[in-house]
Parts: sequence; structure tokens; C-alpha cells
Amino acid sequence: MARITLDKLAHSYLAAPKSDEDYALKQIDLDWEDGGAYALLGPSGCGKTTLLNIISGLLTPSAGNVLFDGQPVTQLSPEARNIAQVFQFPVIYDTMTVAENLAFPLRNRGVDKREIEQRVNDMLSTLDLTDKARRRAAGLTADEKQKISLGRGLVRHDVNAILFDEPLTVIDPHMKWQLRTRLKELHEQFEHTMIYVTHDQTEALTFADKVVVMYEGEIVQIGTPEELFDEPAHTFVGYFIGSPGMNILPAELQGSTLISANASFQLQRNYPVLDASHVELGIRPEFVRVESASAKQSDSPSLPYAITSVENIGRHRIIRGSVAGHALDAILPEGKDVPSEAVAVFDESHINVYSDSHLVKPRA
Ligand code: ADP
Ligand code: MG
Repeated sequence: MARITLDKLAHSYLAAPKSDEDYALKQIDLDWEDGGAYALLGPSGCGKTTLLNIISGLLTPSAGNVLFDGQPVTQLSPEARNIAQVFQFPVIYDTMTVAENLAFPLRNRGVDKREIEQRVNDMLSTLDLTDKARRRAAGLTADEKQKISLGRGLVRHDVNAILFDEPLTVIDPHMKWQLRTRLKELHEQFEHTMIYVTHDQTEALTFADKVVVMYEGEIVQIGTPEELFDEPAHTFVGYFIGSPGMNILPAELQGSTLISANASFQLQRNYPVLDASHVELGIRPEFVRVESASAKQSDSPSLPYAITSVENIGRHRIIRGSVAGHALDAILPEGKDVPSEAVAVFDESHINVYSDSHLVKPRA
């Protein structure tokens, strides 16, 4: 197991990159702690696979270094780095049986026979494949083949890290949930450094202790699921995490007063003077109350709320609409009615301020 350091890493697939846009990865500096369970989350095309392949050694970065426990490994092959990688689609030997496929990485490493048998049997039962152990892999379903791929990644205990690149894409939804839970258990048992790539926030938030959010070749935030929810460091994180995502409204900051949607909000904390011109207010739909316009007014401003749709999603409802011409989503808790003439009231303690898309930290 190892702590993995990315030092001024950048990558372009072009031979002679010129501008920022030519880079699949812009500058990345990051430490993955030894034994951490990480999710690498971001939309398709943001550079997740590129980053994973650079860590495993399938790809050499255009600039910067990869270090394991402080030792540079940038020039080492994947084998020499001792990393297990599980890909989006099955990588198995069709002519071997299920058990042989699982034993293969161990045989390669010269693990003793009885130990191999033990570990293969454990893995077969973890993956619910015990009754298929002697079957040839060729005849199995895509689901089952991908489970073998996962098993081949998980069967070794001596690896520096296990990397998963959207490994559950081809697995059916119920099994997905089961396997994710198993992965979490295996992490707790063996404490491997695990990096789990996904574009699905639910997958990221349930698997990981820490989520690394990528956007357009950059890492925009590293945090616990709670941190990503409460204080998104970038408007993209606010929008990407949560369903629906954070509301973002144009705003103007004057001391601790934030002006937005024709109203003044009293912020609970003091903010520095911003020289940037592009200021925005961020508030999650969970912290937008939908009230009747005729109800008793609260201390915070009531914004006339033009509701355009109401979606029932089980326990609560999602309200979509606009304030002063800006889109605004709200979550209506169970048992509350949709007012015919509505106002939106923001919980001012949950307002975030953004300057040029980055979170502005209040002064201590
Ligand atoms: P993700 O895994 O997050 O979907 P990728 O790392 O696969 O993103 O891709 C990042 C960017 O690099 C994309 O713009 C993609 O088109 C480009 N890219 C990926 N692989 C290659 C390649 N082999 N050659 C050229 N461009 C590539
Ligand atoms: Mg990918």
C-alpha cells in the first residue's frame, strides 16, 4: 500500500500543445493518502481515465511526476508499480475457468498453492460465483464477466493501490448496489488505497470517504460528501452534486449584504471586499422555503416565486420556477402544499458566495 503523490502533473494527447484547451489534464497536484477510499467524480470527458492511466503507468504524463511513498515511479511500467486496475469492460481470459481467472494474478506473483485456493474461494463467495467456479468464462453473461474482472483486481493483497474505472457500468442496478457495498467492506478489511472513478454522484458518495471532483481537466474540490454538499468550492460542484443541484444566481456583495434577485440578504458572516466582477449567490434547493405570499413575512426577504413545475419524487417534491427571471429550484418537504401564489425564502445561514465561480471564504 502506498501514499500516491501527483506532482505538477499535466497531460496533452497532442504532440505540440499550445493553449490550455489542448490539455486533457491541466496542472494537478494531489496527495492520495495511504489506505484512503477515494472516488474520482466528474462528467464524461473531464479527464478521469487519463488521470487513472497515468497513476497506473499505462500512460506517461506530458509533464510532472507520480510518486509512491515519495519515490518517483513516472518511468516505471504498470507491473513494476504493483497496481491492480479494473476497467469499464471485462478483461478476462475466456478459455480459462472462473476460478483459474481469479487465481491467475496470484500464480503470477508466486503465491503459494494453498493460499491461492483459499483466496480464490473467498473471492468466489464474495462475488456470488461459487457455483460457477469450474465454468469456462466464455459462456458467462457480461455481468458475470465483469464480476470476474473485479475479482482479479481484488484478489491480491500486496498491491500498492486498486484503481477502478467505472467498473459497474455493465452491471445491473441491483447487483451494482450489492457490489459497491462489498467493495466498501473489502476496503475496511484490507485498507488498500482505492480510487474509484465514476460520473455517478450516488456511486461516489456511497463508496468514498473522500471525493475528488474533476472538471475540464482540473481538480476543483476534494472533500467528504458533507463538505461537497455544504460548501461546494466551485459552482460546478454545487451544480453537479445534489439533485437538483445548487441554485446559482447573479449577485452583488456590499459588506455582509448580498444583493440578488432584487432583494438584500444579510449574510451571517463577514466577507472580504471582492475585486472580481463576477459574483454569484449559491443556495441549495433544500434551503429554499416555499411559502404562500399571504403568509406572515419572515425576517429574510420573500421573493415572488413563479412556479413552472412540480415533480413528485416519493418523499418530497421538487419545485421548479424562477425569481426575478432567474431559474430557482426548491424542495418541498412531505405534507406541505404548493401555494397558489408563492414566495421563496432563503435560509440565509446556507447562502454561499462565489466569485468567478470559486467559493469565497468568509473572514474568520
Ligand atoms: P473521462 O474518463 O473523464 O471521460 P478521458 O480521460 O477519457 O475522460 O478524456 C479526457 C479528454 O481527453 C477528452 O477530451 C478525450 O476526448 C481526450 N482523450 C482521451 N483519450 C484520448 C486519446 N487516446 N487520444 C486523444 N484524445 C484523448
Ligand atoms: Mg473514462
